Amino acid sequence: MRQLYIGGSWTASASDESIDVVNPATEEIIDRVPAGSPDDVESAAGAARKAFPGWSETTASERGKLLGDAAELLKQRSEEIAKTIATDMGAPLGFARRVQTLMPATVLSSYAQLAETHPRESRVGNSMVVKEPIGVVAAITPWNYPLHQIICKVAPALAAGCTVVLKPSEVAPLAAYALAEIFAEVGLPPGVFNLVSGRGPVVGEAMAAHPEVDMVSFTGSTAAGRRVAALAAESVKRVALELGGKSANIILPDADLALAVKVGVANCFVNAGQTCSAWTRMIVHRDQYDEAVRLAVEAARGYTVGDPFDDSTKIGPLVSATQRDRVVRYINRGQEEGARLVAGGTERPLDRGYYVEPTVFAAVEPGMTIEQEEIFGPVLSLIPYTSEDKAVAIANDTKYGLAGAVWAATEDRAIAVARRLRTGQVAINGGRFNPLAPFGGYKQSGVGRELGEQGLEEYLETKAMQL
Ligand code: NAD
Repeated sequence: MRQLYIGGSWTASASDESIDVVNPATEEIIDRVPAGSPDDVESAAGAARKAFPGWSETTASERGKLLGDAAELLKQRSEEIAKTIATDMGAPLGFARRVQTLMPATVLSSYAQLAETHPRESRVGNSMVVKEPIGVVAAITPWNYPLHQIICKVAPALAAGCTVVLKPSEVAPLAAYALAEIFAEVGLPPGVFNLVSGRGPVVGEAMAAHPEVDMVSFTGSTAAGRRVAALAAESVKRVALELGGKSANIILPDADLALAVKVGVANCFVNAGQTCSAWTRMIVHRDQYDEAVRLAVEAARGYTVGDPFDDSTKIGPLVSATQRDRVVRYINRGQEEGARLVAGGTERPLDRGYYVEPTVFAAVEPGMTIEQEEIFGPVLSLIPYTSEDKAVAIANDTKYGLAGAVWAATEDRAIAVARRLRTGQVAINGGRFNPLAPFGGYKQSGVGRELGEQGLEEYLETKAMQL
């Protein structure tokens, strides 16, 4: 059984309960982590509070150096960590390496630099305005990009001069342990980074409510985010929320349809559809709709489902039996509400493992459950539109606003439509994801931004001194 990392030491939990870590491809238990308790949160928050004055007074270059060393070590251990993520989360190994491990290393490096370059002082009239670290940060993260989501919080928090208590997801927690080892090895002072594994309603809620915590940064479902925000409100903590999505991919009539569908399907199915920013709604002009459905079905058939360690696998298992059952319920619901299943479905593609076939629905109408709710599996809906205004209205008509895409003959035309979308990110003609650009949601997709300079600003307070 693993231990907690508190005050610079590996420590037994105050609770003797544990959580099994399961390999979703084999359904076998591969490890156990402590199911932490409120007493553990007490110790970790105390350690983080004690470490705060010292860490917040380190120079930017000292913090930058430690984060840079950690990024280097993460790169050195990337093969082993990618295998860990392929095993506890089910991401295909190549993707686990490139996106789940090396991308977080890039983000960590970016904060090693930003720690030093982000301006902390400015002048306005007779005032000197300074930015200071907010204090102790509670970070609560999900399982779908288990290391990336952690780095998106911990790297800017540490760069800002904050100390951290992290609760990783109980579903895929192992990468977080590797990160704690890395921070220990590079010599991060005791208490600056603390790891308490456990369940959301126990450890997560204790963190959100804790009086020594100044800020909670949460990534996960909208339902849990709402609960975290309510608990944090009692002590008026700052709250950053990265929540769900139901992003639209608008294909305008003059776009390269074949390319837009191909890239759109890939975006929807990446990480077995377990991506908050996935373009799960493909919005296609009525005149091109049948052709788009045909192209999407053809593309979906090329998505081989299988063992994450097999090079030919494009879609691994979903992370858990719970997640698979949830996705299957949505596929059934889509059919009950009259959408037309044109690829995939609820058949189990393999005897063992939490797999779901890449699934495509046609004849999806605005307002259907599968058009409105986040499924978090490899399920694509194609929705027809008749005018540009209608396409924009369909795209904007969900409670979410995290990401999206627009395809058109020219960049200017696509940008003009993208400006009308109430969403935090838009890919223009397939523009690739940029891990240094601000990421976050409008509406119920969240509050605040991660990544880049804006991600760092989240962890800073502002003080004006009148001279
Ligand atoms: P989840 O909400 O179940 O869990 C996320 C984290 O919150 C876990 O660590 C969990 O233990 C904890 N948690 C659960 N209930 C809690 C509570 N009552 N109080 C405090 N903490 C609690 O989400 P999940 O199933 O792990 O992840 C999938 C969700 O995350 C999806 O909705 C997805 O869209 C979202 N997500 C969003 C982003 C983003 O950046 N916007 C990124 C990744 C995932």
